[in-house]
Amino acid sequence: MPDAAVAARSSEATNSGTTQQVDVAVVGAGFAGLYLLHRLRKAGFTTVVLEEAGDVGGTWYWNRYPGARCDIQTMDYSYTFDPELDREWTWSEKYATQPEILRYFGFVADRYDLRRDIRFNTRVKAANWDDTSERWQLTTDNGADVSCRYYIMATGCLSTPKPPEIDGVKDFKGEVYFTGRWPHDGVNLAGKRVAVIGTGSSGIQSIPLIAEQAAHLTVFQRTASFALPAHNGPSPDDRKTYFEADRAAYREQARWSLAGVPYPQEMAVSWQLSDAERRERFEKAWAAGDLVHILTQLWADQAADFDGNALIGKLIHEKIRAVVKDPETAAALSPHDHPFGSKRPCLDTNYYATYNRPNVTLVNLRQEPIKAITASGIVTDKRSVDLDVIVFATGFDAMTGAIMAVHPITGRAGKSLSSVWAQGPQTYLGLTVAGFPNLFMITGPGSPSVLSNMAVSIEQHVDWVVDRLAALRDAGFTTMEATETAQAGWAQHMADCSMLTLHRMANTWYTGANVPGKAQTLMPYNSGVGPYRGICNEVVSRGMLGFRLTGPNVAEQCNDGEVVRLQPDVRLVLGMLAEMNLPAIESMGAQGARDFLTEFNKGRPAGRPVGEVGSGALQGADGPLPYRLYRPATPGPHPIVVYFHGGGWVLGDEQSDDPFCRDICRRSGMIVVSVGYRHAPEHRFPAAAEDGYAATRWIAEHAADLGGRPGPVLVAGWSAGGNIAAVTCQLARDRGGPQIAGQLLVCPVTDSTFDRPSYVDNATGYFVTRSLMFWFWDIYCSPADRTDPRVSPLRGNLANLPPAFVATCEFDPLRDEGIAYAEALAAVGAPVEQLQARGHFHSSLMMVDVVITGVSARARMAEALRSFAGLPRKLEQIDQDTSPIAVNAAAG
Ligand SMILES: Cc1cc2nc3c(=O)[nH]c(=O)nc-3n(C[C@H](O)[C@H](O)[C@H](O)COP(=O)(O)OP(=O)(O)OC[C@H]3O[C@@H](n4cnc5c(N)ncnc54)[C@H](O)[C@@H]3O)c2cc1C
Repeated sequence: MPDAAVAARSSEATNSGTTQQVDVAVVGAGFAGLYLLHRLRKAGFTTVVLEEAGDVGGTWYWNRYPGARCDIQTMDYSYTFDPELDREWTWSEKYATQPEILRYFGFVADRYDLRRDIRFNTRVKAANWDDTSERWQLTTDNGADVSCRYYIMATGCLSTPKPPEIDGVKDFKGEVYFTGRWPHDGVNLAGKRVAVIGTGSSGIQSIPLIAEQAAHLTVFQRTASFALPAHNGPSPDDRKTYFEADRAAYREQARWSLAGVPYPQEMAVSWQLSDAERRERFEKAWAAGDLVHILTQLWADQAADFDGNALIGKLIHEKIRAVVKDPETAAALSPHDHPFGSKRPCLDTNYYATYNRPNVTLVNLRQEPIKAITASGIVTDKRSVDLDVIVFATGFDAMTGAIMAVHPITGRAGKSLSSVWAQGPQTYLGLTVAGFPNLFMITGPGSPSVLSNMAVSIEQHVDWVVDRLAALRDAGFTTMEATETAQAGWAQHMADCSMLTLHRMANTWYTGANVPGKAQTLMPYNSGVGPYRGICNEVVSRGMLGFRLTGPNVAEQCNDGEVVRLQPDVRLVLGMLAEMNLPAIESMGAQGARDFLTEFNKGRPAGRPVGEVGSGALQGADGPLPYRLYRPATPGPHPIVVYFHGGGWVLGDEQSDDPFCRDICRRSGMIVVSVGYRHAPEHRFPAAAEDGYAATRWIAEHAADLGGRPGPVLVAGWSAGGNIAAVTCQLARDRGGPQIAGQLLVCPVTDSTFDRPSYVDNATGYFVTRSLMFWFWDIYCSPADRTDPRVSPLRGNLANLPPAFVATCEFDPLRDEGIAYAEALAAVGAPVEQLQARGHFHSSLMMVDVVITGVSARARMAEALRSFAGLPRKLEQIDQDTSPIAVNAAAG
């Protein structure tokens, strides 16, 4: 196979001195640029690729440092668009070396005869949109400038090395190298005193090999990274067999997966597993030597929950201690400042063992920062190290560096991209920017990119862009531009997504924190390549939602809007429910629906542990009722919350909202007593309401027996349970007690009017539908009774009721009646706190450990309950741990 570097047959910069006219200019001839060229040609667009390097390969052209390899298995890190290409190339190793990957790109370039349309050694310096001609003008540093209709930046997420931040580099008299710009002829380090600055991926790959050559190696580490052994060798049998069994299916699964490699969704959460089970999973992952495996297959909460994540950190620290003989060095190499996976973990070969070599020293820059680089070496606070060679493995100005290096990029009305992005990158789908028509970015900020197998993400972007350009052309459109609304919606969606994982908790190149002065925000899309692909497809199927299309002979088309208005996890849950194609609950009959709910609830994560869970019987309005009691682990007596479950007065029981009851108990530090009130159709109105009141009275009278704090109780409920809680407060006021200190109403039913906008807007598609609500009402309450305040509390007397916290969800038929109740309470002077949960549906806030974005809402509910009970709003114990519970609560 020809070496790409040797076999370069670059197309000459023809038209030198004039402007080269093409349909499409692509910048970059790496993984993305090559596939773009192939597809654009096939689609009939005249195309030129402009590439600063001397040949194809991008990342793999530049990064020639010792030990450079991919860290996604090469079987997965390959083009998949052509099954024949896929069959013609066989990788020699599980993780191929840089030279082999570079040969692969040379092979691809030859196979599709790509080089004739690539101008090598040509850097694009600036780009300017001309409104009159509706074309981009690109200025190059070599040969003709380019005029094109479409400008596609395939400039790479990791292609602009970060400049050293240390004074004195220029004074150093020895040799200086950057891993990201390694000399093509190699570097002889034998017998030399070498420093490596930086311990990210490139540092970790190169350090063991540099140590083998150098007389002495000093590693300067600012932030320790998590590294796990690659166990390189042939592709593992299990993955190969899986792949070979059905290559097409394997590739398709990768496209819809979370990270671009086919692995199942892990369901078990950390606290459901014993120590032994967790260790077994961890050891298996450690032995697998596979980033995607260890990042996704340990337990379901590893990426989202601080505690679930910390377990992994501890296990890796153990591994480091087992290898590194010097305890101080082992401690310095053990990351403590970021959750595992929040910064890119590395794959290594002998990395930790390298520190046992007598010729290797680790300098911990947290303890002794570099003061200066001098003519002869590096001086820290504590020592002076004489050196012949300094290697900077300090990483990249990631995601935006190469885009912003083309300066200026000027869009409509002379607006420059650097001003639009001054506070961080703003994009629609990570592909386009409002105000910059016909500009596309492959794996731009706001797309999965570096949080995925980039082969899959690149192909998805290339296909989407080329398909759009072809469709545009066929329809007579010549410009395509994202709208401000769509872009703002995407920014909101990105912000919502960022709350789902722990990435936001680390200072990394994912967030721009590695580059001084760079605006910090989580740049890659963290909710998975499959969901992201679905969203891109949806934009198309909804008539190019969020894009303005124009052309000389066609009417402008702009279907403006935001593609994702649901919270990201809510979108996933609703998507899964839709895929299950469940029959309508109202078609099952009451008993059938109850059986269904019982089965359905078995699939949800078990609630988290509380101090104690007990059960018993209390006195209802017409006989005993079961209850379930959740007691905090802290010493009592605690205030008591009387809780009424949801289920439209027909479904559910005292156990059916178990995860929510546990969660509220943990967060509020209060006893929760969930009441098994009577249901319709066996017991129609007003049975549930009267049971609610009677149960509250009984619980208040027996507070001390239940281990609770005597005195006023609190009431809470969700949906129909919220209705019962609200009604109970009115009855308690009118019937002389018990005293109620506060009411928590979550998506409550408050009225029997069904024409409010939320009933119309959310009539279908959000699990609780209008027809389901009609069914509930019909079963529980005859039309003649529906104006009775015991079922429509909004129609009752609202004066002198306890303080309330009313939570409503945006995509819920019951939203507006909940808001109306809160406003009516406020109008008569009751203290009311409202929470209108954006992007949530009726069940969201109940879905503990499923809908992670509901956490902040529940944290606020618990705070409200505590304040009603006269306690400090914050429960110290939960506040002080750094679990996402507390973090999200703070953020919410
Ligand atoms: C050491 C290393 C290992 C990696 N391993 C993996 C891995 O295992 N799995 C994975 O998914 N990803 C990995 N990556 C990420 C890798 O960057 C992508 O997988 C992929 O190669 C990106 O391809 P690309 O074509 O988008 O960009 P690049 O490969 O970066 O190519 C961009 C090209 O654009 C050119 N360019 C930029 N600006 C200009 C300009 N103004 N004018 C002209 N030319 C310009 C550059 O010279 C470069 O050649 C790794 C990255 C590094 C640095």
